[in-house]
Amino acid sequence: MKSIGKTLFYVALMIALIGVPVYYVVSWDKDMDEVTKSMRQAAQSHDSITDFLDALDRGEVEAVEIETGSNKLKWVTTNSIVYQINAPPGLADNLDFINNLREKKIEVKITSPASSSWSYIFWILIIIVPIILFMRLASRAGGAGPNQINKFTSSRARKFAKDKDSKEPSITFKDVAGCDQAKEEVKEVIDFLKSPEKFQKLGAKIPKGVLLVGSPGTGKTLLARAVAGEADVPFFSESGSGFVEVFVGVGAARVRDLFLQAKKNAPCVVFIDELDAIGRQRGAGFGGGNDEREQTLNQILIEIDGFESDKTVIVMAATNRPDVLDPALVRPGRFDRQIVINKPDIKGREEILKIHAKNIPLADDTSLTDIARATPGFVGADLANLVNEAALIAGRRNKQKVERSDFEDAKDRVIMGLAQGKIMNQREKRIVAYHEAGHTLVAKSLPNTDPVNKVTIIPRGLSLGATHSLPEEDRRLYFKDYLLDEISVLLGGRVAEELLGEGVTNGASNDIERATQLAKAMVCQWGMSNLGLLLYGNGNKEVFLGRDFGHVKDYSDETAKLIDMEVKRIIDERHAAAKEILTARRTTLNKLANKLQEKETLDKEEIDDIVSN
Ligand code: ADP
Ligand code: MG
Ligand code: ZN
Repeated sequence: MKSIGKTLFYVALMIALIGVPVYYVVSWDKDMDEVTKSMRQAAQSHDSITDFLDALDRGEVEAVEIETGSNKLKWVTTNSIVYQINAPPGLADNLDFINNLREKKIEVKITSPASSSWSYIFWILIIIVPIILFMRLASRAGGAGPNQINKFTSSRARKFAKDKDSKEPSITFKDVAGCDQAKEEVKEVIDFLKSPEKFQKLGAKIPKGVLLVGSPGTGKTLLARAVAGEADVPFFSESGSGFVEVFVGVGAARVRDLFLQAKKNAPCVVFIDELDAIGRQRGAGFGGGNDEREQTLNQILIEIDGFESDKTVIVMAATNRPDVLDPALVRPGRFDRQIVINKPDIKGREEILKIHAKNIPLADDTSLTDIARATPGFVGADLANLVNEAALIAGRRNKQKVERSDFEDAKDRVIMGLAQGKIMNQREKRIVAYHEAGHTLVAKSLPNTDPVNKVTIIPRGLSLGATHSLPEEDRRLYFKDYLLDEISVLLGGRVAEELLGEGVTNGASNDIERATQLAKAMVCQWGMSNLGLLLYGNGNKEVFLGRDFGHVKDYSDETAKLIDMEVKRIIDERHAAAKEILTARRTTLNKLANKLQEKETLDKEEIDDIVSN
């Protein structure tokens, strides 16, 4: 009974979905024919732009329609005749022209090219095909026999085979840079894959699992592929979230299938991306455990344990959250080798840039060394993205080579998102200019800060302006003096707003957040306050929701009060310091802010010029 109801429902759905657009296409075609016919008749005598302009002068035009793609311009006269001409390109974007028409009370409509009836059929197919697929799947999951479910549960792991006819060249070590330590460590794995006998002869057990740990974009996936490429073995890749599906048990079945395939193809590498998606501590999390995840995880553990030692299948997995992994996963005999991929240092960044700029013509004024210096904190994926954005920008500007300025604009875009042509009113512009000038001037006035190399009030992403400073080299150690000055720089924006005297805004919220974080870390983690060298709280270890719900507070309420007071003291003192500087240099602040309102972006030289006077 149930299935008949279901079938009827689908039939009705299909009729509705096919019927409505078909009716629409038919009736729409008829309309269109009439219009084009009248147009064709008319077009004979009124086929040029001058006719249109003449009619416009005579006041005979009632409405205008411009089609953006094809530059067709249709106009309707006061006695309702439709004409169509070819307009000069870009007319639809010409605001003067359009406003002019509007002033004359002429109705203006801008359309994109009308799609043909074929495109409707295309859309119908797009809608219908998934429905049919879904119906088949639903009936299968419903009452079908066990072997029909097979396809659904088989692993969809992508296999990057080593076949010679594969067009994609395999990835090797020369495609990975900036993580020499990690490369050195995986060399051993490659050795195992290439000649397992060498180790087995000595009775050594081949390690089974290697866990790559690193921030997103540092090249974990890339390195795993390079291992397979170097060893010249097949590479099976599946992401952790790919195992987890709505139906309980499917994930585990997929794991079984993936390892079955792998064993057939041994020696090979199995790569599980985002291991933390399934490998989280079992039993943790809201509302008890997640059955599906636990089953999948159990299956992975079983498979890893179950390899016979003569099959060289190396399981590599990647995560950026090793702290939340189930302890069973990192036990000896499982993912017992952890390889950390750090963010690249300045030399590493240059190497990565070289790899990605290999096929890109660089102008003489672009120096990859400079770009590497200007991008602290960028990981491989950011750098790849940066090079590509720069090439796109240069292409858009019709250049033959990618120049320094293209890279600079690309960097702004990668860091801060697209520039928005949001028009600020004069008052907002003035306040933002003072805010940014405040950051800049405080940074220029204090001894322990990073040099400012650019300040702008062009809105991007969520921020209305930005002050960029650039450390001379990568910092690993942060001195207390540097941190204190940095807090002053962060508060300098708000202080400038206060001095301007037009009231303060919410523009400083991000600055305040960062200043507070720094001050808190100084007190609670870095022993840089009057509260001594103690760790208060759980440090910066992230809280795993569910396991340690909320904050771990391992100090008394009195201490909590002291911490709050100490943090507030630091912030207040740094605020006072910033205020003193900006009050003393008020004229320079005004000059800087005025110049910013005028030019919107100031570079290092322009800033130095104003500040040094
Ligand atoms: P992850 O898996 O760590 O998130 P990926 O390996 O997916 O990062 O990196 C994404 C892309 O970024 C790569 O395809 C590559 O183009 C680039 N990339 C990342 N790290 C490096 C690196 N160390 N060397 C060269 N390119 C890199
Ligand atoms: Mg990845
Ligand atoms: Zn700010």
